[in-house]
Amino acid sequence: MSSSTSAAPGTQERPLRIAVIGSGPAGVYAADMITKSSEVSDGLVVSIDLFDRYPAPYGLIRYGVAPDHPRIKGIVNALYKVLDRGDIRFFGNVDYGTDLSLEDLQKHYDAVIFATGAINDADLNIPGIELDGSYGGADFVSWYDGHPDVAREWPLTAKEIAVIGNGNVALDVARVLSKHADDLLVTEIPENVYAGLKASPVTDVHIFGRRGPAQVKFTPMELRELSHSKDVDIVLYEEDFDFDEASDVAVKSNNQVKTMVNTLTNWLVEQDDDAADPATGASRRLHLHFLHNPVEITGEDGKVTGIKFERTELDGTGNARGTGEFIDYPVQAVYRSVGYFGSALPDVEFDHKRGVVTNDGGRVLGADGTHVPGIYATGWIKRGPVGLIGHTKGDALETITHLLSDRADLPLADEAAPESIVELLDSRGVEFTSWEGWLELDAHEKALGAAASESGPVQRERIKVVPREEMVSVSRGASVTS
Ligand code: NAP
Repeated sequence: MSSSTSAAPGTQERPLRIAVIGSGPAGVYAADMITKSSEVSDGLVVSIDLFDRYPAPYGLIRYGVAPDHPRIKGIVNALYKVLDRGDIRFFGNVDYGTDLSLEDLQKHYDAVIFATGAINDADLNIPGIELDGSYGGADFVSWYDGHPDVAREWPLTAKEIAVIGNGNVALDVARVLSKHADDLLVTEIPENVYAGLKASPVTDVHIFGRRGPAQVKFTPMELRELSHSKDVDIVLYEEDFDFDEASDVAVKSNNQVKTMVNTLTNWLVEQDDDAADPATGASRRLHLHFLHNPVEITGEDGKVTGIKFERTELDGTGNARGTGEFIDYPVQAVYRSVGYFGSALPDVEFDHKRGVVTNDGGRVLGADGTHVPGIYATGWIKRGPVGLIGHTKGDALETITHLLSDRADLPLADEAAPESIVELLDSRGVEFTSWEGWLELDAHEKALGAAASESGPVQRERIKVVPREEMVSVSRGASVTS
């Protein structure tokens, strides 16, 4: 149905209609900032719909943050408060590109903000990467976070595992792989994840960085957290502790680097000689290696049996160069955690080199390099997968400032009545979920946790529901309002 009125957009009669695609922190921050902008305080009336391809909101927080990171999960409380106010509508289980096209969005909204993030692993192009037993760290994260679209079973059969990369995702992956499953039971991990981790025979997880201890991309708190896992010894190697001129400058000028180098050096110095000895130390070990550049994953019968590295040395600038010395480690699984990479979006220009939507300060550009009117981007799909969750706020501010300053030039939607998008989704048989539906699912997951607490050994606040159909049916049990 058409809802065009003669009223100017931004009034009670005809609000400025904005669609945000992606309900992770980037999307929610952008939506919230619009509602709190000075333009809105000055009388601009906006109406915002937030879409997500998953039936539940929160994006990266639900499907990217490790379950044993409740502090970051606390960000959920802030996002909850924004979405529970009732002035931003949530439509879950709606896939941009399948359920709604760009043309549909342009017909129903005056502006569209893409906040779809980055969920896939960056490539690591070395021989053997295709072997059975070679995985993307981000895929493993999706599995242990109960992502509805990944297989329920994860092959955890390796005793020795290599994790490539020195970023926070590598730490998450290595920590979850090495931790005893019972120590994760207090978290919201789904049943299938607990069962998989419980059966894991792992004894040694090796994290490999290609540069030195002063060039890690971890953050101090996440590094220190490694030492909190019970019955897991941390093992370091003296020959990996090399510092060049650039390292010294980094240690002196950057408190985070200084803290991490101190932490690592203290661990090395205080390391119990018995730590690496399975007979006397913990039953599992987490090895931190530096100055190892991966060159090949080796295998037999199509399966990973080892990994070969070239030892590197620092070149004075903080970068590493090969030494010509090679070293092999027997491992049965390799996880690459060498960064995330954004996925292209249908009908939107994409920078395949950087894995971002082509944009200028959040204004999405067309093939000719000019702004596509009314189309914006924010978060990791705008600037690439770097930075902590809080950094996304600055991004959102830039994008919404541009959007609001472009207001007079936005191509106005023909079907701007809020109910018309609901009618379109219904007419296509899209089983979208609502905020009320999420509150139902949220309560259901908490009830599962309470039931498990009564019969099990630990208090469980929540147990995540994994299958999409189940998420949708629990959510759609609630009334879906327009
Ligand atoms: P990241 O921080 O960019 O780290 C990627 C790591 O992979 C770097 O150590 C990099 O080494 C290495 N690498 C890249 N290409 C490689 C290659 N060909 N061979 C060997 N190593 C290679 O990426 P991330 O860990 O995916 O994290 C993404 C963002 O999410 C970061 O901002 C991170 O802090 C954030 N995050 C935060 C948390 C948390 O706060 N708890 C948790 C997860 C993620 P070089 O430095 O030598 O390039």
